[in-house]
Amino acid sequence: MAENKVIVIGAGSTGSFITHDLASRGFDVMVVEKGNIIGGTSGRFHGMLHSGARYAMNDVRAAQESITDNRVISEIAPFCVENTGGLFVALNDEDISFQGKFEKGCSSAGIPIEKLDTAAVLREEPFINKDVKVAYRVPDKTINSFRFITSLLLTARRETAKVYLNTEVTDFIKEGKDVKGIKLKNNSTGETGEIRADLIINAGGAWASRLVGDKLGINSIDMILSAGTMAVINRRFTKNIINRLRDPSDGDIVVPFFNDSIIGTTAFIVDDPENFEIDKDDINFLHKAGSEMIPVLANYPVYRYYAGVRPLISAGEDTDSRKASRDFRIFDHSDSDNINNLISIVGGKLSTSRIMAKEIGDFVSDKMNVKQDSKTDKIKLFWPEISRENIEEMSKSLRLDKNLLAELMNESNGKTYSDVYSNTLDILYSRELFN
Ligand SMILES: Cc1cc2nc3c(=O)[nH]c(=O)nc-3n(C[C@H](O)[C@H](O)[C@H](O)COP(=O)(O)OP(=O)(O)OC[C@H]3O[C@@H](n4cnc5c(N)ncnc54)[C@H](O)[C@@H]3O)c2cc1C
Repeated sequence: MAENKVIVIGAGSTGSFITHDLASRGFDVMVVEKGNIIGGTSGRFHGMLHSGARYAMNDVRAAQESITDNRVISEIAPFCVENTGGLFVALNDEDISFQGKFEKGCSSAGIPIEKLDTAAVLREEPFINKDVKVAYRVPDKTINSFRFITSLLLTARRETAKVYLNTEVTDFIKEGKDVKGIKLKNNSTGETGEIRADLIINAGGAWASRLVGDKLGINSIDMILSAGTMAVINRRFTKNIINRLRDPSDGDIVVPFFNDSIIGTTAFIVDDPENFEIDKDDINFLHKAGSEMIPVLANYPVYRYYAGVRPLISAGEDTDSRKASRDFRIFDHSDSDNINNLISIVGGKLSTSRIMAKEIGDFVSDKMNVKQDSKTDKIKLFWPEISRENIEEMSKSLRLDKNLLAELMNESNGKTYSDVYSNTLDILYSRELFN
């Protein structure tokens, strides 16, 4: 099996889950990430572990995948999931007329729903607009993507995968029609290097198309880069995620995330996933739209806002990114571009990253003639709780230097878990490669 060497580009939710899936099947796999953990869209999203209800009306496959992974991820990674529940609320006649379509969509996707009347909704969520006519309960949850991706990478590492952060793929090693490896630059130190492999998987999210387009002239990946802005209020007013009962549209959702309320979102096309402006009018619009569902939000300022870019598969001529599928697609570039040993995966959602990883894992196993099924629906993800008492054991199991781990823990006094792990993983994993 050791000769089946695979490099995954990008450690967002997609690339990190692929790394874990392949490592657990016995592949010799490494993941290379140009930035930090959650440096891409996986750190600039809405925080939902979708039930799929949002997509059930127009995108049944994405909805079915969501409800499946909503259950599996809650089982294998309970430390990063909050079972908030979700409500779809009708505030006007147009929302009310959407009931039939909503019930039918959820039923075909296998998403369990429960209809609540006004009194029941207000009992459960006293801050919701008192004009609410009807609501449906759905099994939406929230997910902490930092913990999720960190635990995927730690689990993969324990399964023998190698993880390199702050390390950018700058080019490909190409011999004839075959891609033989990648060229790298450590973004912390400026050092460069090359690594050869049998197969490269491009899980570069919103960067995926441009990366292989610029370096290999591949133009078969037709993507829409659909950015979405989120406005954050520094208070939480609901237990549930509150969705507007209508087709997905701008300003139709408020997500309670820890102690914040995240109001989302918008959809606008960008050319470059890293360089685009957030329109201040969008922030005001979101604040107003969120306050229609939860009026008290209007009394609090937006204290932070951010935007992420959805890596969506293009639906052809139609440039309305709301209509683009939330499903994903695997491109084998030997078929589409006559370039061997390179596969790209595009689209999907953080909530469906396990299924995406399983499908690409099946594809790669077939291609490389490896007879190993995916086990990721059963493997509990590893989440270490580091303390003075267990630091010795942790340094062994994480294969991290104990003194450096202690040093970093000291430095991180008073900071959150994410700071501790971010420092640790960033510094140590990016050092490792060129040593
Ligand atoms: C506004 C918004 C809200 C969303 N809300 C939700 C939600 O609530 N729930 C949900 O499930 N999904 C949501 N999504 C979708 C979800 O966030 C994305 O589908 C998912 O995070 C994409 O993960 P990814 O790994 O494919 O991409 P990314 O997370 O972007 O990862 C790609 C990685 O590749 C790296 N990379 C790129 N080029 C290189 C290179 N040359 N060398 C090395 N590394 C490279 C990047 O740095 C990046 O970290 C939302 C998306 C948006 C935009």
